[in-house]
Amino acid sequence: MRDLYVVVLLGPPGVGKGTQGRKLADEKGWRYLATGDLLRDGVRARPDLADTVKEFMERGELVPDVIVNQLVETVLAQSGQSVLLDGYPRTVGQAQTLDDILEKLDWTFATAVLLDVREEDLIDRLTSRRLCPQCGAIYNMKTQPPANNELCDRCQVPLIIRDDDRPEVIHRRFSVYREVTEPVINYYEQSGRLVRVDGSGSPEDVHQRLLRVTHSQ
Ligand code: AMP
Repeated sequence: MRDLYVVVLLGPPGVGKGTQGRKLADEKGWRYLATGDLLRDGVRARPDLADTVKEFMERGELVPDVIVNQLVETVLAQSGQSVLLDGYPRTVGQAQTLDDILEKLDWTFATAVLLDVREEDLIDRLTSRRLCPQCGAIYNMKTQPPANNELCDRCQVPLIIRDDDRPEVIHRRFSVYREVTEPVINYYEQSGRLVRVDGSGSPEDVHQRLLRVTHSQ
């Protein structure tokens, strides 16, 4: 029998889950599965659900568990590869259902990895970010500043701050995250399935830490 398992990646908005998750999955030979993407694709695959899913997503609200769970189960059941999940589970109900799905499919739960960053550090990271409105280049005023003040190296136009990188927006995204995801973190922690990984520092440092905690998978 194939030995298939899931790894769950948890962490606050802006911590780099997408970038880190893709890179880790690539290196490990896992399938990277982000439920945000899956729902967008699922809308195409299941026209009967399209309107409902679209409405929730457009409002920035969680799509009902029953729909997300079903999509995840379908993908897992058809996957010949182990899977790294990003953006799922987002509620304790989804976490419990994931356990049931894995049991039913005879998959293993490998580990839940929490990419942990202090809110202050993340705010510091995101508020240092600047964007060129013309070419889309991203700078970081602390770690990767432009050569000339606040002008794009290429276009020489003033750099801007993205709306969702403003401190008040970041605080709001964090409080939603805490409210919604903290119970999921507790769920895995209480069952001894959570590892915390320091998400600060360079992307390469974080990647190496992730490799270390998942070395046995
Ligand atoms: P994301 O790309 O992870 O930010 O997700 C985009 C949107 O997809 C979210 O705002 C939700 O509407 C929906 N979504 C993604 N994952 C889930 C999930 N696990 N449960 C419910 N809704 C989800």
